Amino acid sequence: MSRIKDIKFILREYKFKKPFCIAHSSALETENIEIQLITENGIVGYGESAPSFRINGETPEMVMSLESKVREMILDKDVRHYREIFNITDTLISSPSLRAGVQFSVIDAFCKECGIEVWEFFGGAKNEIETDRTVSVRPMKERIEEAIEIYKEGFRVIKIKVGENLNEDVEAICEIYRLTRGCRYIVDANENYNPKEAVHLAKRLYSGGIDISVFEQPVNRYNIEGLRYVRFNSPFPVCADESVRSRYDALRLIKEEAIDMINIKLMKSGISDAMSIVELAKSANIRLMIGCVSESSIGINQSVQFACGMGCFDFCDLDSHLMLDESEYRGEFKQIGSKMKVG
Ligand code: MN
Repeated sequence: MSRIKDIKFILREYKFKKPFCIAHSSALETENIEIQLITENGIVGYGESAPSFRINGETPEMVMSLESKVREMILDKDVRHYREIFNITDTLISSPSLRAGVQFSVIDAFCKECGIEVWEFFGGAKNEIETDRTVSVRPMKERIEEAIEIYKEGFRVIKIKVGENLNEDVEAICEIYRLTRGCRYIVDANENYNPKEAVHLAKRLYSGGIDISVFEQPVNRYNIEGLRYVRFNSPFPVCADESVRSRYDALRLIKEEAIDMINIKLMKSGISDAMSIVELAKSANIRLMIGCVSESSIGINQSVQFACGMGCFDFCDLDSHLMLDESEYRGEFKQIGSKMKVG
């Protein structure tokens, strides 16, 4: 038996090395919650919740306040029966990042009990992935400097945040494209265009000879018609991020033929729904990206283990830990430039 004897929530504050800015929102620091799950055998499973008010309507205070509730829900459950614990913690619908951290800590403890690594639990498909890095929404000169720096550091997939000013966005993408040849590009509007603006941007890029690999969340999360409009009127694959949090969101968007790709984030879906969304997407020939919120190395580790084990992600946007000032590295993976290695 490997019964859960205690679970602890520890609030941790991290500062961004420089402000992280998307359209209409910027962050200087983040508060994440480290989860420690202790079994009767003295094994500790680790997880992290990185709450996002913008994406999920969660705050760190909300997550922290659920400590005793979660303890009550899962105390004395056996981590070997992890699906039972997933089913119980799936009821944490207002706090998906907490579902993620708790569910991961259960899997981490389960794997330690079994003597396997977490990426092996998820399937052991690959032992290495490659992450992109992100260019914030900033004044033109700074966007270009940031992109060049990323390129010089050896990253070959660049995510460009857009959505505040269409003309400046086109100019920034064109300049970055010209100065960082040979990269793949993800353009992420974080819901901030309307459908016609999004198509207009895509057509201007296309007619300028620019190829982008992914056009992410061009319009509001609830505008499914709009997503489909962009999908069928722009030459680039359209990816849902904010639109897909649960397995039900994924099923609906697939049925509506609104998207080419889904950006799965553990902090939106927990481990349970992330696993379901992978299978739904595969069944529908929808491609996959894995993304992050503001996880530290301990939280990014969750997504690295998941992505390596599943082996189904065409793009990995797992760079938040690289943007944070961390006194101690807590990942179970090796970061070598853009590569993340397990095993
Ligand atoms: Mn996104």
